[in-house]
Amino acid sequence: MNRALNALQSTKSTRNLGLKHRNTFGFEVSAELAYDITVPEQIPEVMSEIAKQKLAWRVLGGGSNVILPKILAGATLLMNIAGQEIISADDKNTYLSVGGGVNWHEFVAWTLEHDLPGLENLALIPGTVGAAPIQNIGAYGVEVAEYIDSIIVFDVKDQAFVTLTKDACCFAYRDSYFKQNPQRFIVTQVVFKIPKSWKPRIHYADLAKQFFENANPSPEDIFLAVCKIRTHKLPDPKVIGNAGSFFQNPIIPIEQFEALLKKHVDLVSYPDLPGKRKLAAGWLIDQCGFKGQRLGSVGVYENQALVLVNHGGGTAQDVLSLAQSIQDKVRAEFGVSLVIEPNLF
Ligand code: FAD
Ligand code: NAP
Repeated sequence: MNRALNALQSTKSTRNLGLKHRNTFGFEVSAELAYDITVPEQIPEVMSEIAKQKLAWRVLGGGSNVILPKILAGATLLMNIAGQEIISADDKNTYLSVGGGVNWHEFVAWTLEHDLPGLENLALIPGTVGAAPIQNIGAYGVEVAEYIDSIIVFDVKDQAFVTLTKDACCFAYRDSYFKQNPQRFIVTQVVFKIPKSWKPRIHYADLAKQFFENANPSPEDIFLAVCKIRTHKLPDPKVIGNAGSFFQNPIIPIEQFEALLKKHVDLVSYPDLPGKRKLAAGWLIDQCGFKGQRLGSVGVYENQALVLVNHGGGTAQDVLSLAQSIQDKVRAEFGVSLVIEPNLF
């Protein structure tokens, strides 16, 4: 109890905090009341204060998967819990405990420095470790869920810290129990389980091309190749504001896919669950002529149509208007609904 009280007393809160540099779209945002969360013990007291005052609230990690309004009403918990350590190992796996506020890319680099390969395909994804399980981040055929053992959360409904096993997290393609139950769980630590056996996974075309003459790349080779491809293909949020893929890749029934393929022979798609097919949303948007287009301060990135960008001075409303035009045209042309991936507050 004393520790909890001390934690609250030391919780720094700031009124009207500017968050332009804590959202990768670079929108001008002001948080009415922001709490700096550096240790889990702060959370119960902060949440009880928020409940007492009946404030709206949300957690913010690195702000790389959110669309924020000009004013973030109520309370914003800035997830800044640090710390990463190897906690145990057995014949097959090494277990790591990592704070929710640790930078994801720096953590991936750290695993490789400690000879713990597996996460290299997920290099250079912006944001925090605590947010990684929320949408089960994925890239180049690897999902973070594969490497998660369990997650320590504060359950806001039950007002208690709970450890959720991987199975309880209901991970799916860019989805999780957390995403299905917004504003219930605050991720404080993630426990990773890194298998000691390792095989390169370079089947995505862009990655395979990098290893045309090297059938046995090391984890570090893959890490560097992923960084190189991403740096070339995606806009650096420090230069052009964006939140990565703006829409999810639609997964449609096979019958709908076959009908579409008759009309669009070059439709880009991949097998997914049995009876379903995943369409490349970027290709659909490109076909509708949006790639490289600009609408006032916002636009569609020239190298990847799935990424909407803020050229400077744009707002959430601007980007959502552009998104609506894209959704309407893609639906009219292909009969497919595009779902927005970043979280709208
Ligand atoms: P935020 O944007 O701050 O938050 C995202 C959501 O998670 C919000 O709903 C927030 O409330 C919630 N949240 C954050 N932290 C916590 C916590 N500790 N507890 C509970 N809820 C929390 N994503 C991919 O999957 N694959 C990619 O390859 C990829 N590439 C990207 C490239 C670029 C250039 C950009 C800008 C984004 C990319 N993304 C990608 C999206 C994004 O980086 C990830 O979703 C990332 O995990 C978001 O982390 P964050 O800390 O910035 O989360
Ligand atoms: P890409 O390699 O050009 O591929 C285009 C789309 O086709 C991707 O969305 C990918 O689906 C799918 N795809 C390609 N090869 C595939 C294969 N062998 N099997 C199954 N699906 C395949 O994509 P990109 O834009 O350059 O991005 C590269 C990777 O980084 C992708 O995995 C992408 O998801 C990830 N990324 C994600 C975000 C984000 O914000 N969510 C942003 C940038 C990049 P998947 O998306 O399912 O992999």
